[in-house]
Amino acid sequence: MKVQKFGGSSLADGQRIKKTLQIVQDEKTNHYIVLSAMKGITNLLIKASENAESGNSDYKKQLIQITEIHYNSIEYLFSTDEQSLIKENVSYLLDELKDILHGIELVQECSLRTGDLIMSFGERLNCTIAAAHLNCCGRKARMIDAREIIITDDNYGSSHVFLEDSYLKIREKLKDSDTLYVITGFISGSEKGITTTLGRNGSDYTASIIGAAMNSEIVEIWTDVDGVLTADPRIVKNSFVIPRLSIEEAMELSYFGAEVIHPYTLMPTIDKNIPVKIKNTLNTTAPGTIISTDPVERERAITGIASIDSVSFINVEGGGMLGIPGVASSIFGALAEAEVNIIMITQASSEHSICIVCRSFEVERALKHLNKKLEYEIKTKKINRIDVRNNLEIIAVIGENMKGMTGISGKLFSSLGNSEINILAIAQGSSERNISLVIESKDKIKALNTIHKTFIG
Ligand code: ASP
Repeated sequence: MKVQKFGGSSLADGQRIKKTLQIVQDEKTNHYIVLSAMKGITNLLIKASENAESGNSDYKKQLIQITEIHYNSIEYLFSTDEQSLIKENVSYLLDELKDILHGIELVQECSLRTGDLIMSFGERLNCTIAAAHLNCCGRKARMIDAREIIITDDNYGSSHVFLEDSYLKIREKLKDSDTLYVITGFISGSEKGITTTLGRNGSDYTASIIGAAMNSEIVEIWTDVDGVLTADPRIVKNSFVIPRLSIEEAMELSYFGAEVIHPYTLMPTIDKNIPVKIKNTLNTTAPGTIISTDPVERERAITGIASIDSVSFINVEGGGMLGIPGVASSIFGALAEAEVNIIMITQASSEHSICIVCRSFEVERALKHLNKKLEYEIKTKKINRIDVRNNLEIIAVIGENMKGMTGISGKLFSSLGNSEINILAIAQGSSERNISLVIESKDKIKALNTIHKTFIG
């Protein structure tokens, strides 16, 4: 038994949906499918709610676009006779969406909770169409609204899943072994039954939760690339697909921007030892990348390189921090209060400065809270200054084989040195699987290509 998840790129229009659902029908194993919204729909829904909130009637234009995209795919996928019934079901959802958007326009307010409800229409519309199409092709397909089976807290916008409760609900609901269940990705429900979502691109996570609940043999994530690549192909021309990845490598790579899977995806599958495979709907014969707990035999020290752009660092510096416990705690406390996500931290053993790397859009908020929290230390000159540097990039060099291997950092830094790339900060976790460096954004292309050439070829 397997779970197959198809993202928006595999569901761009009627033609793509048909091709994708053919992959589903060709599958011989008993399986469940998880679908995202059609390509671009979640963004249109967000835009519509933002317009409605600011009283801008342009939201009606987005509504027309959303309607047209779905109706066009219905016209492509169904015969004239079949179309009226399916259009009726879809228009029922679209009318509801219209009413909610009108409500937002009237009150000029759209909370995160309402935002989740608005976004949920994307997956619900798409799965309604897909399940109907599969039925028309002679399959016994049934759409499942994941709000009934994936139970979360009420942290709207990006909720936390109660896995065990969800597993029970999933097993209860997906009982019939000869039904092809078509499950909405990304959306979920709180314990009180309110619509929540798992965060952008959360459908991968939905698939792995379903896989873990049903003890599936494999979870397949179908996307529009051949698998996880050694580096971003737009930047490193000779990057290539990595056939096998350890769970840890995949997690590091996905966290550091190898946008192929949602970073949470592997959490439920690790517990149950379920492999995850990345496949390409546009190139079905490509073998893809398999992520599993099986040991990976590889000669190279470095498996892949990932990067995060638009980051800034905040450097807190002062002689008074030396040997005084609690300064780091105040800094991290201030950032937690500001809800700033810290991506990387470095502190030299001189304890003279602490450097924190975060996304650039969060810097202003971080500084405000830091200055407030450290007011006393700044006044008493324990902290001399808080500097910010923007336009930076984190490069993460990842590989299971780096563990215990000597000379990797030496080679890494000398290759960058020879290419005249200045490194502003370095961090390596004790897992030795990841070395992260901060460089200036202008050096990104050169740095990624230099590292790829040195270690991967
Ligand atoms: N449709 C949602 C998004 O665009 C979730 C997903 O596709 O995974 O973020």
